[in-house]
Amino acid sequence: MNKNKEDTILKNLSGLNRKELKIAMEDMEVPEKQINMRVNQVWNWLYAKGAKTIEEMTDLSKDFRSEFKNKYNLDRPKISKHEVSSDGTQKWLIRFPDKSEIETVFIPDDSRGTLCVSSQVGCTLNCTFCYTGTQRLVRNLTSQEIVNQLLIAKDSLKEWNKPQRDITNIVMMGMGEPLYNFENVRDGINVFSDDAGLSISKRRITLSTSGIVPRIEDAGNEIGSMLAISLHATNNDLRDELVPINKKYPIENLLDACRNYPRVKNSKRITFEYVMLKGINDSEAEARDLIKLISGIPSKINLIPFNPWPGSKYECSEWDQIEKFSDIINRGGYASPIRIPRGRDISAACGQLKSDTKKEKASIKYKKELAKLESERIRPL
Ligand code: SAH
Ligand code: SF4
Repeated sequence: MNKNKEDTILKNLSGLNRKELKIAMEDMEVPEKQINMRVNQVWNWLYAKGAKTIEEMTDLSKDFRSEFKNKYNLDRPKISKHEVSSDGTQKWLIRFPDKSEIETVFIPDDSRGTLCVSSQVGCTLNCTFCYTGTQRLVRNLTSQEIVNQLLIAKDSLKEWNKPQRDITNIVMMGMGEPLYNFENVRDGINVFSDDAGLSISKRRITLSTSGIVPRIEDAGNEIGSMLAISLHATNNDLRDELVPINKKYPIENLLDACRNYPRVKNSKRITFEYVMLKGINDSEAEARDLIKLISGIPSKINLIPFNPWPGSKYECSEWDQIEKFSDIINRGGYASPIRIPRGRDISAACGQLKSDTKKEKASIKYKKELAKLESERIRPL
């Protein structure tokens, strides 16, 4: 008798990498010689065509499809909330079966569309200016969960059938420290960049790290994406305070790792991120120190106006001061774009990501407090 489908827990193929799909094919008892072919077929459906059901995979025989359906599905993780900002930024709160949640953010621009992907639920690193670091529950995402963030965004933007892509770039700058989840981030990025599927070139994928020095070399060898470093200070005393992992991996070691990053040796630029904190790290002397510090490293410096969150002990630098800081760096020969915060009305800007649906009430209070903080800012951005 046919077993009722609801009785069986179906395994999920959505977001799997090639190695995992191969295991699924072995599980389906596909003969050894045909496994690679079957993996390629399924890959094409999943990542080039965006199939949502096994039924759509019409180049698999009908019999195989019906057996396949009895064991597997292509379901995405649940979207528990989808918000669209007045500036076009979109944020998806994604809930996994263990009830943990992460956020993925899409930032459209004139010339590109960037998807900001999370690597962990929360973050263990407690940088003092970052809201994500205050979240208690932390776990690594699987590579499947990392890949599903892009699939969900493509579904939601209805991108699969469009002649032009909405999502042209990926930044691993959502929740979490990607180099603390090295293998899964590596495997996820390899799915993103695979030419036969999602096909987002590694030149368009940027991994941002707070500076896990020994893993930067591994990232150069095994991932090969663009690199961004959350620097935020020009001396160890201050960086120890802002980015506490600096006590373990101080600035000198971090910059050595940057100099040795393979792409840098090929004159590709590293991005240094520098959050602008009023009266803390935004003096003109620090701008000059910054130029000295990075001398010889092909780089650009992204100045990020601090995004406030309730309870944070910092303020964003005055706009004039950010411009002065930027001018000094420009004159020193480095591009230093000021990153205009996006999606603030939906708390999607850098360092504002924190998931906790249990605290809906707290979140309403948070939004009110945030609006108050915003209205007190010197210049609306
Ligand atoms: N954990 C990684 C990647 C995620 S954070 C890292 O730290 O690099 C993405 C960027 O946002 C980092 O440069 C981080 O320092 C910055 N950021 C965190 N909180 C912020 C805030 N409140 N305002 C502005 N930028 C912030
Ligand atoms: Fe973690 Fe990055 Fe936030 Fe630091 S800035 S707490 S490393 S997410």
